[in-house]
Amino acid sequence: MLVPLTIDYSVFYREKYDFGNLYKKIGNLSEKLKILDKSDSHSKGITFCIPSEIFILFKREKFSLLNTNKFIDNLYGCIIFLTKGKLVETDILFYNDDSALKILIDSFNGLMGKNIVLYYRLHDSFKISKKNIMVLSKLGFNNFDSISPITKREGIFLIRKNRNLPWKNRDFNVIWGKLSLYQKLKSSNFCYFYIRISEKSKNILKEMVESGGARIEKNGKISQKEISGCFYIADCKGGPDCKEGKIPTFKFSLNKNQIKYNKDEDAEIAPCKYNFHTHPFSAYINNDTKYAWPSCSDYKAFLISFYNYGTFFHILASLEGIYIISINKDWINSQNLLDNDTVKYIESKYDLIKERNIYTPNKYIKIVNNYSYKGKEAIFKVFFSSYEKREKNEKYKIYFYRKNGQCVI
Ligand SMILES: [Zn+2]
Repeated sequence: MLVPLTIDYSVFYREKYDFGNLYKKIGNLSEKLKILDKSDSHSKGITFCIPSEIFILFKREKFSLLNTNKFIDNLYGCIIFLTKGKLVETDILFYNDDSALKILIDSFNGLMGKNIVLYYRLHDSFKISKKNIMVLSKLGFNNFDSISPITKREGIFLIRKNRNLPWKNRDFNVIWGKLSLYQKLKSSNFCYFYIRISEKSKNILKEMVESGGARIEKNGKISQKEISGCFYIADCKGGPDCKEGKIPTFKFSLNKNQIKYNKDEDAEIAPCKYNFHTHPFSAYINNDTKYAWPSCSDYKAFLISFYNYGTFFHILASLEGIYIISINKDWINSQNLLDNDTVKYIESKYDLIKERNIYTPNKYIKIVNNYSYKGKEAIFKVFFSSYEKREKNEKYKIYFYRKNGQCVI
């Protein structure tokens, strides 16, 4: 049986021991641990993967065992790490097989409990193939970033948050899609991806609009609350969109755990990267309106969300269908879309309330998408999709900002 053996990094800085033989096998550890030295972390160390009989031997012989052939010949893998609060950053030095990798990765649960967030840096020599990423996906890595929040090192960091959910194939699809996107857009001038909204989520939104939070007032009038919440990436389809060379399409679903009922006709912005709010049926009656596309305050709220929460797109669910608001390519890297001039411009051009009984939704999005601001394209790209339309291939191109120079979603 293989077991983990974790040793504090200070052991390798002491002059007391000779680790010459061990370093021949895994490289100079004190050098490697220095990479992790910049952070004011809580603890640093190395975890070895060894057979249990060697572990028993270690209890007797202690650190002098590490430099013996008996130890080195029985080494199945090792990982260096540092921790800061519940965050752990790791670098794998080597591992013989997937079972050794699993023992090294899972050793942090034993050390720190279940609620840790693990950042696992892929080696420069790591081959990003479906097969290799599948192994890590099955170990619970379901997200990635191009920078570590602990040491601020750059690289490809796979992220594992412990969830007690069984692994599903779509977990792999999502991480594979995110990595593919990042790699494919490395030399591109702009970050973009394609999105689809799940059919099920559209139906939930429709129900929310029609009857969500409804109550009957004393005067017999029905009032409803605006509802807001978040979407999450549920899948990245392996079909034509995820093939090599193509920019992936991600499927988004509504996060049922983050739904919030707001004041009657005043939705708060949900603090997430993909969010929504509703224009309830009762507001159509109270305002005597046929359609209820985004108001100019909805556009302003989206910009606030864009700057505060890094929001990629916002969905407005109405009786007639969903409107998807995003920022156009020409403006995606702009830092000041909330300056006075632009806000005034938005208030003057996007307040098409009176037209809600004149235009159709398709005419509306044609108008707003044809705007031009300061000689560039319109600030917002708006899509509309009715509930009736059951087109499976309906997808939308969304531009997003570069984070630390990389296209990471
Ligand atoms: Zn609204």
